[in-house]
Amino acid sequence: MREDLLKGLTDEQIAKVKACKNQEEVLKLAKEQGIELTSEQLAAVSGGGLCRSTPSFTCPKCGSSKVKSKYYENSINTWYGNDCQECGFHWNVDA
Ligand SMILES: [Zn+2]
Repeated sequence: MREDLLKGLTDEQIAKVKACKNQEEVLKLAKEQGIELTSEQLAAVSGGGLCRSTPSFTCPKCGSSKVKSKYYENSINTWYGNDCQECGFHWNVDA
């Protein structure tokens, strides 16, 4: 996480930026909010795990598509942690 790159933003704006799914959404949001994002910030947001294109997952347990996915990374691995909003099932998928 490189949240320090977003420190010029309010907590509310950061939360919104983090909720976006891809760079286009970040750009749209920034425009709506009147946020000036440097290319460095944009890269950090869209490529640094704060926000990136997240594939759609389907719950392997109940088949629901209401799945909340979060991207994680460490030095050896990247993965999505998924939480089914229907049945509460949690599983990880390699990214
Ligand atoms: Zn489920």
